[in-house]
Amino acid sequence: MTRKIINILHNDKDFSVETAEYLKKQLYKLGYEVFNNFNEDAELIISIGGDGSFLWTLHKYDFPDVPIIGINTGHLGFFTEITPDEIDTFLEKYISGDYFLEEVHTMKATICTRNNCIETRAINEIVIKGDKSRTVHLSISVNNDLIQKFSGDGILVSTSSGSTAYNYSIGGSLVDPKLNVLQVAPLAPINTNAYRSFTSSVILPSDTIIKVNPEYRFENSIVIVSDGTEYRFAGITEVSLQLSELKVKMLRLKDFNFWGKVISKFL
Ligand code: NAP
Repeated sequence: MTRKIINILHNDKDFSVETAEYLKKQLYKLGYEVFNNFNEDAELIISIGGDGSFLWTLHKYDFPDVPIIGINTGHLGFFTEITPDEIDTFLEKYISGDYFLEEVHTMKATICTRNNCIETRAINEIVIKGDKSRTVHLSISVNNDLIQKFSGDGILVSTSSGSTAYNYSIGGSLVDPKLNVLQVAPLAPINTNAYRSFTSSVILPSDTIIKVNPEYRFENSIVIVSDGTEYRFAGITEVSLQLSELKVKMLRLKDFNFWGKVISKFL
């Protein structure tokens, strides 16, 4: 008989722990084996917490190829699709196959210093900004064509599913996830006689490669932030950003509606 395995990953909040206990009990009754850490033979990951916990799970397990759904015990819960009081209904729908998998693109950044290059990945966004509140001066190229010399606090490059996160707070556009694009949004752009930068975001097609080269004086004063986690490297010469082939399989209930979610969470 094939094993039926589900991973439950949750944050430390009392309510998340209680929710995980309840869920585990219901899953045992349905004949599932439940793991509180990552088992790669699982058919599903259930993340309990807020969007922060959901992001943590994806990063900690390196964007696993296992479908994932979130139960929201956190604050906003944009990624997390269900609430604790919907667990029984969710399980009924899951067992009867009343769901679909939405494959969401991640993005990757290749960060090159004078010595080597490393890769990082994000599902929401990658931010390139000045460390210690310094202005940054960045040359930004799209498919090797220089489009601007940016001066300001930094830039934020988001996926469509990340458009509702930090991107939205800095005035970027909300993007329907059916559109697979990259959005480059400025953080406090300087637009004066001294420096000229775009003041709105720019939306680019899915196959675009964005290259960001800091002015050499600023190579050591740049921070890279991937879904909220900061990375610092000495002597950054180039950051190259693009959508990745690696996708996250979000388990969605059949009645999932992106714009309904935007309205309920933002308006
Ligand atoms: P965090 O406290 O984990 O998250 C900050 C807020 O962003 C939380 O309310 C979180 O929801 C929400 N969020 C995360 N992903 C979202 C998405 N795809 N759509 C809508 N809202 C989303 O902060 P963190 O650990 O520093 O960074 C994690 C993420 O937070 C980043 O990827 C970034 O997008 C976002 N962030 C936003 C701002 C801002 O808006 N000014 C600043 C920093 C970071 P929950 O309450 O459900 O966790």
